[in-house]
Amino acid sequence: MTSSESLFARAQELIPGGVNSPVRAFRSVGGAPVFMQSAQGAWLTDVDGNTYVDFINSWGPMILGHAFPPVQEALAQALPNSFSFGAPTRREVEMAELLIEMVPSLEKVRLVNSGTEATMSAIRVARGYTGRPKILKFEGCYHGHGDSFLIAAGSGALTLGAPDSPGVTQGVAQDTLTVPYNDLAAVRAAIDANPEQLAAIIIEPVVGNMGLVEPAHGFLAGLRALCTQHGIVLIFDEVMTGFRLAAGGAQERFGVTPDLTTLGKIIGGGLPVGAYGGRADIMNQVAPAGKVYQAGTLSGNPLATAAGLAQLRYLHEHPEVYQQLETTSTRLADGTRQIAKELGLNYTVNQVGSMFSLFFTSEPVTNLEDAKKADLPAFGRYFHAMLQRGIYLAPSQFEALFISTAITDELVEKYLTACRESLIEAHGL
Ligand code: PMP
Repeated sequence: MTSSESLFARAQELIPGGVNSPVRAFRSVGGAPVFMQSAQGAWLTDVDGNTYVDFINSWGPMILGHAFPPVQEALAQALPNSFSFGAPTRREVEMAELLIEMVPSLEKVRLVNSGTEATMSAIRVARGYTGRPKILKFEGCYHGHGDSFLIAAGSGALTLGAPDSPGVTQGVAQDTLTVPYNDLAAVRAAIDANPEQLAAIIIEPVVGNMGLVEPAHGFLAGLRALCTQHGIVLIFDEVMTGFRLAAGGAQERFGVTPDLTTLGKIIGGGLPVGAYGGRADIMNQVAPAGKVYQAGTLSGNPLATAAGLAQLRYLHEHPEVYQQLETTSTRLADGTRQIAKELGLNYTVNQVGSMFSLFFTSEPVTNLEDAKKADLPAFGRYFHAMLQRGIYLAPSQFEALFISTAITDELVEKYLTACRESLIEAHGL
């Protein structure tokens, strides 16, 4: 038995499903998860000493690779001054300044501890601001595990086949409307059927949580126009796309400015942080400036803000990072598409910037229904074949890959070689 297998056996006795977040359990691909020991740059090392090239990067935040020296140094400098005060600090102000400078929609911002907190808080503020009860989300988009979002949710909930989670009341569920992604007519119909009822439309502007799905031309701009017309708060959930698809996120890349934005992961450089912010008149509703309550003992934590600031400053000062990420990811995505084609598989590869997905279907994937056509058993075999070759992918078809700047040309070649061999193995070619 490997150390990973024995730890997983112990974990299953102690922790539900043996993991602290469902998708880590390898349920959809089978087998036992690998327990990690350390990471440096592009490389992960597990508890048995095996090494892997990381194409998940903690689901996004390690955009500059693991243990990035400026982030490490910032943490080392912050450490002697203690780890939590429950009182305001200078770095929180500096962090707010930088976030507002980088993200087009932000005029005011509040720090929280996770993406889930950010999205839960953003819809509360939207409801407080508009005085309306309902929200609209898109099938297959994941916005954390807040009750209101576990309705046709993507990511782990989708993988487990439990989109409507037990424990979410009918009352909450009936205030969440869901429509297919990329379907503006369905949004229009939902608005018309619920006049003056919709507080917010929340969306992943580029979806990472049903695999990578990009917005159709004009879709985001169409949402912007509808929200303005009907007094609905438009929320971009940029927990994955923020500071990744451009320094200013998907909203910069696509030139559409939402009213509120939710952020997470990446702004903590790997430590637990989230944020929500946007128009000052909306954010001024938040306590203690306004009456919409939201709080957090550890919010703006000194270590988390030290790591986050170091990472964000680096991204801000090195715009060439985005060109590098784009080039590397395009080589990976194009190479994957080409290999699949040569093998007669003709699979769909979706890519936006440094996020991409290989879908095990030859049809275009523009929404959840398309994504569900993928051959999941073949994906599972491919995943394990890649893992054996030292390539660490997301253990689900319904997740994107996240590229870091630590992926060199040599590692692109390593990935492509493994991809060819693994596709052959997975399909018995
Ligand atoms: N929104 C999006 C778009 C996400 O991808 C995630 C997590 N992957 C969340 C919200 C929730 O963030 P967290 O896991 O930090 O609570």
